[in-house]
Amino acid sequence: MSKIAVFPGSFDPFTKGHEEIVNRSLEVFDKVIIAVGENSQKKYLFSSESRLKQIKSIFSDPNKVEIKQFDGLTVDFVNDQKANVILRGLRNSSDFVFERSIAQMNQKLKSVDTYFLMATPEFAPISSSIVREINKNGGDISEFVTNAHLLSYTI
Ligand code: ADP
Repeated sequence: MSKIAVFPGSFDPFTKGHEEIVNRSLEVFDKVIIAVGENSQKKYLFSSESRLKQIKSIFSDPNKVEIKQFDGLTVDFVNDQKANVILRGLRNSSDFVFERSIAQMNQKLKSVDTYFLMATPEFAPISSSIVREINKNGGDISEFVTNAHLLSYTI
């Protein structure tokens, strides 16, 4: 049976840190479904179409990496996709504290486990929020985001 992980996130934008987590997780999982958050209550800097386009441009093998939009509970999406686990990245102890209760809740709700990969020292300092800040202030984000030129703003 193939092992499928769902990697959920806002990915506003999808950074080289996220990219590294997906690539490393493919040593363990047969497939990763990147679940791009589309929550109507939430305000994103980059449009959902452009976030999807940018992520799709990075991964060329749909048998290994699929990119989908999602809204609602992550555990429901995991079950809908017939996936096995949630994948998340950890950069520091704040990520750990935040993720711990969500992972425990997902286990309690639908017995869905979360697998964590520790960020490498090279990518750990990259966060979508810092990248957005650099972008807003006219800085160059291409060092942190693959194919950054594909991203466009929400109206
Ligand atoms: P969310 O809004 O759901 O927290 P993000 O798009 O910010 O989504 O992040 C998705 C996942 O990627 C989270 O598990 C986050 O901890 C992880 N992540 C973010 N940046 C990095 C990075 N530089 N290295 C490793 N993991 C990261």
